Amino acid sequence: MICAKRVFRCFKTVERWGNKITGAAGPFFVGLAVLLISTGTLCFFDVIAPSLSYPLVTIPLCILIAINLHAHYFYVCTVPPGFIEDPPRDAPSSLLWAKKSDRNGGLLTRGVRWTSAPRMTPSLMTRCSRCNKQRPERAHHCRICNRCVLKYDHHCPVTGINQCVGLYNERHFVMFMMYLVLATFCFGILGYEKMFQALGIIPLPGPWPHRMPDVIYAMIYILSAVLCFAVGVMLSFHLWGISNGETSVEAQDHEQYRHRAKVRRETFVNSYDLGRKQNLLLFFNIGETGYPWYTLVLPLRILPYTDGRSWARQEGYDRHLGIRAGEELTDESEDEEEE
Ligand SMILES: [Zn+2]
Ligand SMILES: [Zn+2]
Repeated sequence: MICAKRVFRCFKTVERWGNKITGAAGPFFVGLAVLLISTGTLCFFDVIAPSLSYPLVTIPLCILIAINLHAHYFYVCTVPPGFIEDPPRDAPSSLLWAKKSDRNGGLLTRGVRWTSAPRMTPSLMTRCSRCNKQRPERAHHCRICNRCVLKYDHHCPVTGINQCVGLYNERHFVMFMMYLVLATFCFGILGYEKMFQALGIIPLPGPWPHRMPDVIYAMIYILSAVLCFAVGVMLSFHLWGISNGETSVEAQDHEQYRHRAKVRRETFVNSYDLGRKQNLLLFFNIGETGYPWYTLVLPLRILPYTDGRSWARQEGYDRHLGIRAGEELTDESEDEEEE
């Protein structure tokens, strides 16, 4: 037990230093990501796009993917994740915002129910030991932002976002990863012949005929193959968590709750888990109670299904099963471990 505590403390120290370094280097990563995404897009439309078959269909499709990729990256970098002291947000009527399809016209509200609408329950409140503010459940304190974030997932400097991923930008984060995987996959499949030409494996009748230098094209091609795989794995983890009704933090916590419940011969039930399909629909906020499906393919902004002060829960549950009041892991328990 002492040994496990020591390892945990050691891990926490490494994490804290990692946070400090990546926090300071965040703007550099953002600049690098913008440069790489833009160069990749230019490479595609300069080298690969002119030789695509059925250009009247394929070129608009590629443009749509590229716009989505850039838009969701921009949104995830600029839309604040939602801090506990922020007032609930409204969707302005602007071209960039999708119109909601349901009768409710806004967020799902507590007590209001209609066919298949999930049951909303008010958040339990706790006090943050670091900023000493009252916060709703699923909020966590970010050490880099030094504030409590609603439905905190993680602080993300390395992938170029340099801010927290939370309630209001988590959908953009996942959509950005989805479009990045799709774009790099298309790049890999459609651009391999040009890659062989750039490397000189397939000889060209004359010099490299594109404006983008062959060296840059080859570098971007390799990078996009690596990113397709790496981000694909990350995306799978995130989608798996979402389909279980868990954030990244909760996925770790629930693992411990499951163990604790098992020791007591009980079963842990995550009360936010409404079944895979409903969890995914709620996360992307589409379907009968949300926005139209086309918000997945057009680069539009939408609001999450909740303002972070109430949550959809399984019928008959007001909290998780198998974990007792006061046993939940919070940022406070991390503090105790550090002392
Ligand atoms: Zn806090
Ligand atoms: Zn943060």
